[in-house]
Amino acid sequence: MKTIGLLGGMSWESTANYYKAINEGVKAELGGFHSARIALYSVDFAEIEVLQRQGDWQGAAVALSGAARAIESAGAECLLICTNTMHKVAPVIASAISIPLLHIADATAERLKRDNITKVGLLGTAFTMEQAFYKGRLEQKYEIEVIVPDSIQRGIVHDVIYGELVKGQVNDVSRQRYLEIIEDLQAQGAQAIILGCTEIAMLVEQKYTTVPLYDTTQIHSEAAVAFALEK
Ligand code: GLU
Repeated sequence: MKTIGLLGGMSWESTANYYKAINEGVKAELGGFHSARIALYSVDFAEIEVLQRQGDWQGAAVALSGAARAIESAGAECLLICTNTMHKVAPVIASAISIPLLHIADATAERLKRDNITKVGLLGTAFTMEQAFYKGRLEQKYEIEVIVPDSIQRGIVHDVIYGELVKGQVNDVSRQRYLEIIEDLQAQGAQAIILGCTEIAMLVEQKYTTVPLYDTTQIHSEAAVAFALEK
């Protein structure tokens, strides 16, 4: 079994779910006393959040590249950046290490392709919903059409992530708002919804809607397990 590198803490609430999902995946495959080999570096999210807000992506890239090198030095054989948003600086991080970076949008797109989804709704931070690094990758590399909520709805989705979910707060009113936004995206032709922020599955689970949900935390974790077990 290979060692999985996790660049986490963004937020730790979702990194805890990565840790659990990866260990559960290894247990399901290998049984017995098996658990995943993981090298985890968990950052202080307050330091990263301020750089995001200031638009200092270069500063964020430098900080996360240092963490990624430490993970490689600890023996990791692949790297997962445990947040969709910070894949904005994934190319810089990938160039700072010599182990493969398992990109969250690639893992998600491969799952969508497998399920013949050609038009998808995307929920995430404003950075993820509005900038090209994520949507563009799905559209150009995988030819999947991506639609996002309107600007007022994007504000709601973003504010719930930073105001509640990254602090571990799960609120029924916010869930209802998300479900209404998901229905709007479906009405516009989305065949499925990408939960493109690693905390959203804490709020919206498949049991609350008939629209198929693609939880990036779970999908990314499964990609790591497949890599570690060379499936
Ligand atoms: N975990 C979130 C994501 O997947 C948001 C926190 C962050 O900005 O990294 O985008």
